[in-house]
Amino acid sequence: MGPSSEAEYSAHAAARDRMVALHLRARGIHDRRVLDAMARVPRELFVPPRLVEDAYADSPLPIGSGQTISQPYVVALTAEAAGISPGDRVLDVGTGSGYAAAVYAAMGAEVLSVEYVPELAEQARRALTAAGFGGVDVLTGDGSRGLPARAPFDAILSAAAGDEIPPPWVEQLTDGGRIVMPLESGAGWQRLVRLTHLAGRDLIDDFGAVRFVPLRGEHGMR
Ligand code: SAH
Repeated sequence: MGPSSEAEYSAHAAARDRMVALHLRARGIHDRRVLDAMARVPRELFVPPRLVEDAYADSPLPIGSGQTISQPYVVALTAEAAGISPGDRVLDVGTGSGYAAAVYAAMGAEVLSVEYVPELAEQARRALTAAGFGGVDVLTGDGSRGLPARAPFDAILSAAAGDEIPPPWVEQLTDGGRIVMPLESGAGWQRLVRLTHLAGRDLIDDFGAVRFVPLRGEHGMR
């Protein structure tokens, strides 16, 4: 690493520490695994080159094809709600940039990620490999159907909003498995909800108002 790239590296590392302190911890994210993972994943590798300066901003950013990389806080909230533990099998619906998939992998999960838009899937594969998360499996397809061939999952996490929890996702959970996804609540706003599938029952918890792009596909937004 030459002097300029070293300086760049420490600028990113400093921005990352600031993000964890100000945008995550100060807002109540407390899961150690989430905070440690987000302090490690190089978010600058998941944003378009012209937006690298904004990589650690407190907002979503455009990544092409009309889609966005989620706001860091929202990725943290989703990961914390899901209670990801090392070794969990996680289905990430809506790969987008690949950033959230990298965070779940950094938490020790085995991550399968599905993206509807082939160009985004390809871009995400490259970013994940560059960031050292080449073990994340990125597939192109309709994630609203889940991934029956690779089920069951300990957690299914969606970065796209629906008006109901896709029934196939519930069928693809382990006992104790969780789904975390935004559900439409009117006027383009959603609630981030968690479904926990335990002993044949489904418990629902609400994690507050959020704003995501719509889930497409068979069990997506109508
Ligand atoms: N987690 C991503 C956020 C991406 S935004 C990140 O960290 O960057 C949501 C993504 O969901 C978009 O890329 C969109 O194309 C994708 N998407 C929407 N409907 C989908 C579906 N049915 N199956 C798979 N991906 C879908």
